[in-house]
Amino acid sequence: MSAAAFVLAINLFVALIFAAAFGIVAAYARSAVGARWLALAYGLGVINPVLEFILPHQIDPRPVQVAIFASFLFALSLVVIGLNRHYRLTPPWRTLSIIVTGSMLLNVLIIDMPRDSLLRAVLYQLPYFAVQVVGVVTILRYRGRSALDLALLVLIAVSALQFLSKPLLAAWLGSGATPQAYIGSTYAAISQSVGAVLLIANGLLMLLIIVRDAMAEMSARSETDKLSGLLNRRGFEDRANRLMAIARRASMPGAMVVADLDHFKAINDNHGHEAGDRVITAFADMLAGAADQRAVLGRLGGEEFAVFIPGANPATGRLYAEGVRSGFSGLVMDQLPPDHRLSASFGVAQLLHGDSLSDLLRRADAALYEAKKNGRDRVCVAEVDGTPQLAASRRSNASADRASDSTEIRTSPRRSGP
Ligand code: GH3
Ligand code: MG
Ligand code: MG
Repeated sequence: MSAAAFVLAINLFVALIFAAAFGIVAAYARSAVGARWLALAYGLGVINPVLEFILPHQIDPRPVQVAIFASFLFALSLVVIGLNRHYRLTPPWRTLSIIVTGSMLLNVLIIDMPRDSLLRAVLYQLPYFAVQVVGVVTILRYRGRSALDLALLVLIAVSALQFLSKPLLAAWLGSGATPQAYIGSTYAAISQSVGAVLLIANGLLMLLIIVRDAMAEMSARSETDKLSGLLNRRGFEDRANRLMAIARRASMPGAMVVADLDHFKAINDNHGHEAGDRVITAFADMLAGAADQRAVLGRLGGEEFAVFIPGANPATGRLYAEGVRSGFSGLVMDQLPPDHRLSASFGVAQLLHGDSLSDLLRRADAALYEAKKNGRDRVCVAEVDGTPQLAASRRSNASADRASDSTEIRTSPRRSGP
């Protein structure tokens, strides 16, 4: 067995392993849409070395020669489609169709040229180069590029240049005048070996990128509350802890706002669970709509929410809560009678030195409890000194609006029956 034939056999198994690996990822991670195309690409890549083995035994080698060219060109094109799918870009169907159709015609045209002619070699490799360029452009178009994606870009660019260098290498070393001479040539051994290294490196990198993104998506899904679209308790705690650590290091203030919908059970009981769900979604939308970019929002349980706002002091936290409270109390929903008045209660606490997340949440919860106790539909702020003076405000009607139109924090909550 010649060196080139040995490497061809390795290429066959490598393509097989990657086809299986991408197939498994595609089967288990439904969101990994690019993996299906890559499994198909490497599946087609298996055919290529098989055809190379068959070629020297053909009386008329031309059909197999065209098939070898086509299988590799289609495999490369499928990789580019897979990358576009993975990066959620529209595959450049037109460009690829033009390259593939033009290249197939060109390949048939050059088939009878001498195998060792430089022009034939250039025209043979040019389509591969063109498809790799489309691959490079794909990663350039992807805005969320990180180091791994950049590494893939470089690797594809190297592959592209490798295709351009092949004719020169063939001219220098001699690629054999017949398929039999080719398979035994030094050029074939080098060309197939470089191809094998690039095949493995490209495959590994793409697999890594797809697995990385599939894992990130699974982790995001496991930390997101499906109904509200906000973080669930786990996601909220993780994110809030991180933001609190950053705020602490930068000696930045921070405020925790917790909210609980008022008499929510009655909405479920009187208007159905679906109406309740819609109210939860509407409230979450309001919380998110009013929050600044840095805030982290979570649905901690049924109708309980928390928002950590880095950089906010208690007054800013209260203003935020007050805005959501007032917006929510004016909300009219199709699922509820027009005269149904929605409301929510809020507790606000300031991030203190040495606070853990549970300390901060406990103080915000205590303020929320005060808001509930003092008539609901209001915002209470936990005082910094930890004394039970909890500040509250309510703007449930026009007079209250006028009375509490400043950012001053009330120390004696306005009472109204729950
Ligand atoms: P309060 O004003 O004191 O907060 O009273 P409440 O009725 O809002 O509070 P309670 O804790 O008694 O009821 C909360 C209800 O929320 C009970 C539960 O069935 C409902 N709930 C929890 N999760 C969901 C959900 O995902 N969808 C709907 N529709 N209801 C939910
Ligand atoms: Mg409630
Ligand atoms: Mg509750």
